[in-house]
Amino acid sequence: MYELKNHTEIVVRQAIKDYFRQNKTCCSCERCQADIMALALNRLPPRYYVSLRGEILTRNESHALPDQARVMADVVRAAQQVGAAPSHQMPDQT
Ligand SMILES: [Zn+2]
Repeated sequence: MYELKNHTEIVVRQAIKDYFRQNKTCCSCERCQADIMALALNRLPPRYYVSLRGEILTRNESHALPDQARVMADVVRAAQQVGAAPSHQMPDQT
């Protein structure tokens, strides 16, 4: 079974984890993290590779990977956007 994987997605997921480890300003629930991820991924170029049962068949060269600083900048921008207007009700904040 061949699968398409997006390396940018893996990098963004890690960047969001790092962001929430250092910042508590934005809601970090599953829904908001998914919203941040969607916003950031829509801004960043995808890097797809083919994987076969977990084995990577076509590797991206490291220079083709999105720049970490750019990924983090987009994650921060997306987190601020989601934090300003979360997709869900905030029951503890009225
Ligand atoms: Zn939330």
